[in-house]
Amino acid sequence: MGIKFGPSGISQSFYDEGHKSSAEMPEWLHKMGLEAYEYSFSRGVRISEKLALQLKENAEKFNITITIHAPYYINLAAAEEEKIKNSKRYIIESLTAGNLMGAKRVTFHPGSASLDRREALDRAKRVLKEVIKEADDLGLGHITLCPETMGKKNQLGTLEEVLELCQLDERLLPTVDFAHLHARDNGRFKSIEDYEEVLNTIEKYLGKDRAKVIHVHFSRIEFTEQGEKKHWTLLDKEYGPEFEPLAQLFYERNMEPIVICESRERMAEDALELKRIYQEVAKRVSKT
Ligand SMILES: [Zn+2]
Repeated sequence: MGIKFGPSGISQSFYDEGHKSSAEMPEWLHKMGLEAYEYSFSRGVRISEKLALQLKENAEKFNITITIHAPYYINLAAAEEEKIKNSKRYIIESLTAGNLMGAKRVTFHPGSASLDRREALDRAKRVLKEVIKEADDLGLGHITLCPETMGKKNQLGTLEEVLELCQLDERLLPTVDFAHLHARDNGRFKSIEDYEEVLNTIEKYLGKDRAKVIHVHFSRIEFTEQGEKKHWTLLDKEYGPEFEPLAQLFYERNMEPIVICESRERMAEDALELKRIYQEVAKRVSKT
């Protein structure tokens, strides 16, 4: 195992170099020195069986862990039966495609919380339970579902809400998007203690073993009073949060998360930079 780094989606440089198919991504990422690849079904689960199987084969060959981001339209807390039905379908379709692709995890957005948060969370829990049952019945229960912390205040997805969802079934893991938490909590991460608090909360809810292997999204982010506005790259230093204190905690706590970088356009380059920061911190800490 060990900590893994990789991009969400495909860097501009991949296309600039003349590559066309995402089936080439595992080799490309491996050559860069990365270990993970999050394939995004942002606008719907569309992938041919041929491509899915090619990806699986190449990922195994080049030691790349494939994870999936389910479509953005998912809302497990929707009031309308039709929307709930579609949301469940998006998750099951992501798991089905993920199974062909050899994916280990499926990340998804829990839903909206524009009305009463408690009611929304209870509804999402009820629906997620049904999804888990359906996934098990279809033989897809080996893929880990990872509800994500969200960046806008009117979305379901505070850290605590996501952790409560994860308490439904011991196989669930949180996708902790530190940029989203930074945005929704008005610039939450200023010191290492702020990151420590998050990791301690995860341990409190899920225990050490699960906290150790969480799914992580990281990028710099711009926000307003309502929360998330826009993801930026590591080069855009006017935006936080900083990765270094978090990297130090990952190292000190022997954590083995999958760290997915969601920078715009240069996600793979930035994933490698996150890895470099982690290695540098590890070297420094192990000397002291
Ligand atoms: Zn997401």
